[in-house]
Amino acid sequence: MIGTLRKEAGRSIVVGGGVSGLLAALRLAQKGQTVELYESRERLGGLIETRVLRHGLAEDAAHSLRASAAVRGLFAELGLDWVSAKPEARAKFLIRNGRLRKWPFGVFETLSALFHATLAPAGNRDAHLAEWAKRHLGGAAPAMRAMARGIYGSEPEELVARLAFPKIAPDPLWPLLPWVLRTKREKGIVAAAARKGMGDLIRALENKARTCGVAFHLGVPVPRDLVDPILRGSDTKSNLILTAPPDACARLVASADEDLGNRLEAVPYGALTCVTALIDAKAFAHPPVGTGALSMDRGDSRILGILYNSSSFAGRVLDEQVARSLTLMLRGAEPPTRAELCAILAASFDLPESALLEYAIAAHPRALPRYGLPLEAAWNHCRRFCAAHPGLVFFGNWTGEISLRGLIETARNFSTP
Ligand SMILES: Cc1cc2nc3c(=O)[nH]c(=O)nc-3n(C[C@H](O)[C@H](O)[C@H](O)COP(=O)(O)OP(=O)(O)OC[C@H]3O[C@@H](n4cnc5c(N)ncnc54)[C@H](O)[C@@H]3O)c2cc1C
Repeated sequence: MIGTLRKEAGRSIVVGGGVSGLLAALRLAQKGQTVELYESRERLGGLIETRVLRHGLAEDAAHSLRASAAVRGLFAELGLDWVSAKPEARAKFLIRNGRLRKWPFGVFETLSALFHATLAPAGNRDAHLAEWAKRHLGGAAPAMRAMARGIYGSEPEELVARLAFPKIAPDPLWPLLPWVLRTKREKGIVAAAARKGMGDLIRALENKARTCGVAFHLGVPVPRDLVDPILRGSDTKSNLILTAPPDACARLVASADEDLGNRLEAVPYGALTCVTALIDAKAFAHPPVGTGALSMDRGDSRILGILYNSSSFAGRVLDEQVARSLTLMLRGAEPPTRAELCAILAASFDLPESALLEYAIAAHPRALPRYGLPLEAAWNHCRRFCAAHPGLVFFGNWTGEISLRGLIETARNFSTP
């Protein structure tokens, strides 16, 4: 979150109806503000959408989140029916040299990681994640490729370590181990998902926000005569919360500050395609057990990772005796053909073509922001602009929090003075 709210303002205009916009709108309405939310599309949820197929659910983007105390608190407040990860979903795998390997690493890699984490001195402040991991994790460095792909859908060379992982790669860059030992972690956090899919989280947020008086305007652009007076500083009675992606924010603020508009426009994004495959349960020699597998392999393969949905959470398929659910995370936004999908399933799980019962594809040309130097430059411009424009706030998966958990926790700041 960047910027500050005007405490004396009675009204808030929220732009964007993804999870960030809904969270902001809800918290501001609970604080007693009159809130209007503008979403350019006809539906709420942004990246998040759950499709109901014949054999089970397919998520367009987020499949689950970490259920910290704040997340569990929100679920309880919304009355959201959620499930925690099945006990057998604990195992995580890495795809290395085309083969599954159980996480974590072997003895050599663990010792090498300990050695580097304890002794490696500070490196380049702006080191990308691959370089940082080599210095601080030694033989276990390839794990960061899997993390970068799993969280950001990016390669570690595309992320700056201290921006993408501020808790473990802080600035200034000290050896890793003291930071890891000093970082306080909430214990007992499990992975969680809405029982009927993440679309239910969106519906629950919308319902709660409506109950609290939020007015929704879907499929219409936010009127310029609401935005411009706040940006010019002539409307001091309203807050403006921009939760749309940076290129959309650029178009709103460019008339007030062209340079800021250019910086926001220049924020790089990665493209991702999420394919959920419902597979004949009887076709597996050994059904996949665990959370999923992230790929550490460099090279031409489009596969960034595979989520074992039905092994992770109850309710992902209608009947586990009939179908199992997997989600393939693929690099790029080119939808794969059925033949390509079948080839991936055959190579990864030895499945025949007939095993693929149905599938859903969600291609995101602009899936997630890359946490690198252009994004930091945009933040710095946003901060300067917001300092001169109290009441203006930027909040979304590009302002410092990319996960749903992070967004939910940060959104609490909207209700505190
Ligand atoms: C494939 C994939 C898998 C993911 N998996 C996970 C996961 O498992 N767990 C997790 O925690 N996170 C996950 N994420 C990340 C998470 O889903 C996103 O970070 C989060 O949903 C972003 O929400 P948002 O509201 O910030 O942005 P968005 O969802 O992008 O919402 C922005 C909204 O603004 C609207 N908008 C744009 N321009 C305008 C305008 N001019 N006026 C009004 N409205 C506008 C858009 O239509 C959109 O509705 C995943 C993301 C992807 C892509």
